[in-house]
Amino acid sequence: MKALFINPSAPKTTFWSHKHALEFAGVKAQMPPLGLLTVAAMLPDTWTVRLVDMDVHPLTDEDLNWAEIAFIGGMCVQAKSMEEVIRRCRELKIRTCGGGAIYASLEHIARVDHLFLGEVEQLMPEFLDDLAAGHAKNIYRAETFPDLSLTPIPRWDLIDFSNYLTVPMQISRGCPYNCDFCHVRIIYGKKPRSKSVSRVLSELDSLYEHGWRGTVFFADDNFIGRRDLAKQILSAMISWQSTHGYPFHFIGQASVDVGDDPQLPQLLQQAGFEALFIGIESTVAASLSECNKKQNLDCNLFEVVRLLQEHSMEVLGGFIVGFDSDPPTIFDDLYRFIDEAALVSAMVGVLAAPYGTELFRRMVAENRLIRNLDGDSIANFSGMNVVPAMGWDRLLDGYKKLLAKLYEPAPYYQRALRFLSRYKINPWLPGGLPSPAELRIILRMLWGLGVKDSDRRSFWRFMAELLMKYPQLLPHGINIVLAGYHYRLISRRFIETEHDHASVEPLSDFSEPIFNNVR
Ligand code: SF4
Repeated sequence: MKALFINPSAPKTTFWSHKHALEFAGVKAQMPPLGLLTVAAMLPDTWTVRLVDMDVHPLTDEDLNWAEIAFIGGMCVQAKSMEEVIRRCRELKIRTCGGGAIYASLEHIARVDHLFLGEVEQLMPEFLDDLAAGHAKNIYRAETFPDLSLTPIPRWDLIDFSNYLTVPMQISRGCPYNCDFCHVRIIYGKKPRSKSVSRVLSELDSLYEHGWRGTVFFADDNFIGRRDLAKQILSAMISWQSTHGYPFHFIGQASVDVGDDPQLPQLLQQAGFEALFIGIESTVAASLSECNKKQNLDCNLFEVVRLLQEHSMEVLGGFIVGFDSDPPTIFDDLYRFIDEAALVSAMVGVLAAPYGTELFRRMVAENRLIRNLDGDSIANFSGMNVVPAMGWDRLLDGYKKLLAKLYEPAPYYQRALRFLSRYKINPWLPGGLPSPAELRIILRMLWGLGVKDSDRRSFWRFMAELLMKYPQLLPHGINIVLAGYHYRLISRRFIETEHDHASVEPLSDFSEPIFNNVR
């Protein structure tokens, strides 16, 4: 059987895609599609497998005509491209398979021949048997959350690493918390499941043997969901990194209680973590209570950020505006916190209710759900799908002003310099002179942002201060400049977009999320 794995393209306008920065880095996409590479490894050896990542290469009719079966992955931001891929496959009468939360959320996307609801590890053997017997079903639904020992090591041989900035890896799924806007608990469960220590090391070995060097992003919902095991894994990673000469640096996602245990930041630093995404959400206690983010109420958020920065990690902060409890000062309050905490990359989104979450149900009950989350709305910076208690005008006005303050060059670079002034260089990660690839990035950046860009004055002021005060942090400074360029472009696009919500009516009917049946 000839199987084609297709990763549909994502728009340039998402915050984390960093697409506007990629051209300087000389790569085509942020990350390869981990889910598809993992599912590809579940297929029999007798199958021939190819992968087309549409952010790297266009999907040609030749690709499609080669395939006997297509596995189409993707997230909400890819919905438009997914729809188009499915349409093309149907026209060419290619059997289609799809899975993941988006298929469960958007009915029009779910019209594939074989739909996998829930995690696929236990479903794939049954599907393959049914397919061989000629009676594969339309829907395969997971009844339980599988043990991650069933998850194979991704097929890294299907991609060319040189097209990507970062490589993803996953060692756990699930989160013990229950923030009401988050569907992690519904999709992956409240009991975090993790791969074993030896398995994590095998995955690092696999990446290393396939030639990857550089940043590895842990696509775990909460890296410290099982703190005891996270510590064991980190200790083993430290030995592995030391033995291999620290070829990787890591980015992960964790809850704020990472700051509760003094050992954790130390282990993360020694393992080579350079950044951690933390869902801070709000600085307003009533808003945190409203969304059930209790863990953020029990700590000093500023101190957690500071602690991680002192352990050589940049904190990537997630924030939400539009909670019912947000005071009129929320936009200024958040700006002050982000600025004082020196959070260079602060992703501020508008409150949205993904399918199946408790927030979704509350919004339906209060007749405040306005439309499904879809690729367009998310790509447009934020999926605004609930009627805000503060009213659309105030929300959009405050939000746009906040984005401008955060990402216009002058305040952004000032915040970046404050971050660099308190950042401690990681003594465990090897330094050294820039590689030829890094020199090429610097040259492209100097030309693009130092000569051609209209904001070049701010750029040169920042570069001068960076080189005079923190020359040893030049690589970090370059990352900050390139990320800032991306944030600036997408923020401006959002700010300049006319949003007319006055005529938006709450939805009177909606379909229940089908993945909600997965337990
Ligand atoms: S801590 Fe993060 S992953 Fe866990 S439920 Fe809250 S938002 Fe979701």
